[in-house]
Amino acid sequence: MERESLLGANLADLERKFARIGLTKLDAKRVLPWIHIKCVSSFDAMTDVPHKVRSLLSEYFSLERPICRNLQKSSDGTRKALLEFPDGHQIETVFIPDEKRNTVCLSIQVGCAMGCKFCNTGQRSFERNLSCAEIMSQVFFWKDLLPTLKELAHPHLSNLVFMGMGEPLLNAENLFQALELLLDQKNHNFSRNKITVSTSGIVTHDLLRMAKFGIKLAISLHATTDIKRSELMPVNRKYNIDTLLNAAREYLRRSNSEHVTFEYLLLAGVNDSDANARQLAKLLSGIRCKVNLITFNSWDESTFRGSSRTRADAFLSLLLAKGIRTIIRKSRGDDISAACGQLKGTGERSGSDLS
Ligand code: SF4
Repeated sequence: MERESLLGANLADLERKFARIGLTKLDAKRVLPWIHIKCVSSFDAMTDVPHKVRSLLSEYFSLERPICRNLQKSSDGTRKALLEFPDGHQIETVFIPDEKRNTVCLSIQVGCAMGCKFCNTGQRSFERNLSCAEIMSQVFFWKDLLPTLKELAHPHLSNLVFMGMGEPLLNAENLFQALELLLDQKNHNFSRNKITVSTSGIVTHDLLRMAKFGIKLAISLHATTDIKRSELMPVNRKYNIDTLLNAAREYLRRSNSEHVTFEYLLLAGVNDSDANARQLAKLLSGIRCKVNLITFNSWDESTFRGSSRTRADAFLSLLLAKGIRTIIRKSRGDDISAACGQLKGTGERSGSDLS
């Protein structure tokens, strides 16, 4: 019998599952903090849970993490893990340390159906959504590993970004269940402004439902006209720029977020002219926002080139001059293909560094 993972379970889930095998609500209450606060990976470690209960739990349930098939380390300290689930599907997740914070980039689907032209994941077919347990298992994987990494100033995860493989709003129920666990003070207790969900621009009711979590929203914009955006991101044919920006305004009205972040990938000769910068400033005028300019990280078979530093600086200056808060986001982990748009999620076993 395949044992069911409890990594995505909240208290109500545990009570329901436990009732099926004759365990009580008190058992559920005892077990929950062992899963989400102490983050143990075995029922045997739950020392205040009766031995009989632990044996039953081991028979029916599991706290197993996915298998790490490859772990690579970048020269800048970024790490990328290729994780495999019991059905053989693989995803990638990335850990990005810096002086003040430790950030993990999470995947939400195996593959992606959105087909963004600049993204390596988008060239893979969509396989399936990740369950809440599989989303959470990426957090557990890094929480297990971090204390073993001696070079870290502090071994705690502080920030989470849903910017890995897949479109979060196409797996909204599992995303929301994971957010509840991550934000719950009695569980992982992440602060709302330390979690960012990035969407390619799916404007459904789920985008506004997400406002109730008060987390940060990032929108991948990447172009200033519908023609160009539809070329780069097929999602724009369904939800055009106007629709997307109206949704961003509505999200800000409904959430307590300070601002929405617009991600803008600078592609040489495609979307990086002075005119593009002025158009972008005009589009975003009046929206509480911040713009992250991203330098393009190339991957095999990509036909795009990143803008030069001079062009990126000129683009930045034009936006700043128009009063738009803008930064050029530092690229991390590009030597191990862990940077934005480079995740592939299939086995590349070279360069493994399991330290
Ligand atoms: S950028 Fe995001 S939404 Fe677009 S194809 Fe890549 S993973 Fe999917």
